[in-house]
Amino acid sequence: MTTSGIRQVKPKAEGWQQRKDESGRPLLQFASPKRGKPPVHLADLTPDERIAKAKELGLPGFRAKQLAKHYFDHYTRDPEKMTDLPKDGREELVAGMLPNLLTEVRRLQTDGGDTIKFLWRLHDGALVESVLMRYPGRITLCVSSQAGCGMNCPFCATGQNGLTRNMSAAEIVDQVVRANEIIAAGELGGKRDDDNSAERVSNIVFMGMGEPLANYKRVMQAVRTMVDKKQGLGMSARGITISTVGLAPAIRKLTDEDLPVTFALSLHAPDDELRDEMIPVNSRWKVDEVLDAARGYYERTGRRVSIEYALIKDMNDHPWRAELLADKLLERGHGWVHVNPIPLNPTPGSVWDASPIAAQREFVRRLNDRGIPTTIRDTRGKEIDGACGQLVVTEEDERLSAV
Ligand code: SF4
Repeated sequence: MTTSGIRQVKPKAEGWQQRKDESGRPLLQFASPKRGKPPVHLADLTPDERIAKAKELGLPGFRAKQLAKHYFDHYTRDPEKMTDLPKDGREELVAGMLPNLLTEVRRLQTDGGDTIKFLWRLHDGALVESVLMRYPGRITLCVSSQAGCGMNCPFCATGQNGLTRNMSAAEIVDQVVRANEIIAAGELGGKRDDDNSAERVSNIVFMGMGEPLANYKRVMQAVRTMVDKKQGLGMSARGITISTVGLAPAIRKLTDEDLPVTFALSLHAPDDELRDEMIPVNSRWKVDEVLDAARGYYERTGRRVSIEYALIKDMNDHPWRAELLADKLLERGHGWVHVNPIPLNPTPGSVWDASPIAAQREFVRRLNDRGIPTTIRDTRGKEIDGACGQLVVTEEDERLSAV
């Protein structure tokens, strides 16, 4: 289809039936389906609650602190190694407070060992993934916040299977601890001789499976544990990026948290007409409302907002859309935002494709010319099914085909 000579492809669900609600709109799942809850873990609890739990297990409260140190500082879950804890009751304490949450199912490496993608099985068989990436001077982990996702975006592998359930705070944190354990064991390659940065995860992006703001309470508990300097991972809030497809009320709530995390909005289209189809949640909260909420985040925290924009050939990569995006951002002021276009990483067999290089460059040029800092984001892990959810789909396909 052409409009004034410009090809315009409409989003459509391909090869699968997009779930619809009674009114025929794409189904949005906000509530987590009822499933058995994961076992309660130390990282689900506040420091006070940990003390109470240790007492419940018949031990003095300070044992909880010792246990937290083993887990957060040394990534230890093995009672044998916790020799500062009395042998009597040690096993019970560890079993009661550090139950196993993630079982590694598969590990794929690429970029010369600099990138590792993990597939984890949760206690109830649900599958999630995380991606560990070494860059010069930093190590980034992309974490999942939900098993599956209820936002039903038609271009996304995770969205195609709906929401399995929310992850617990500890299941989110444990992805980081497990990654740290693997780094400490020297299993993440690619460290350069002149790189003196700490050998642990320094940056976290909530861009794995799930919509983090749809699992707000647990994601916030996880973030608090990540930044807790005394009884958590002691990370910098600035190194943590929370991304959303635009749940405006939750963005406003996040603004009120007073946590200077980095905030990223996955916009993907500047016009409601296209965005309604690409990101079904746009039917609830429109582009302008979401951009206003993002601008509010900047005003309160002083943290520059990232706009994520997956560039899809002939769908959203038109020069006029770059101009419209620039108009909408500049309407809300200068210097508050930067744009990260990401060439789409197509799902296997997809009819959608990444924008050609020339279209990418033109898109970026137009935004930069309007004074909006814009840089194409690196697409690490492309050859190992880099887009969120693809590894899980492959695993499930294999499991189903083996039945
Ligand atoms: S793109 Fe993000 S929000 Fe949309 S379905 Fe996929 S994981 Fe969910």
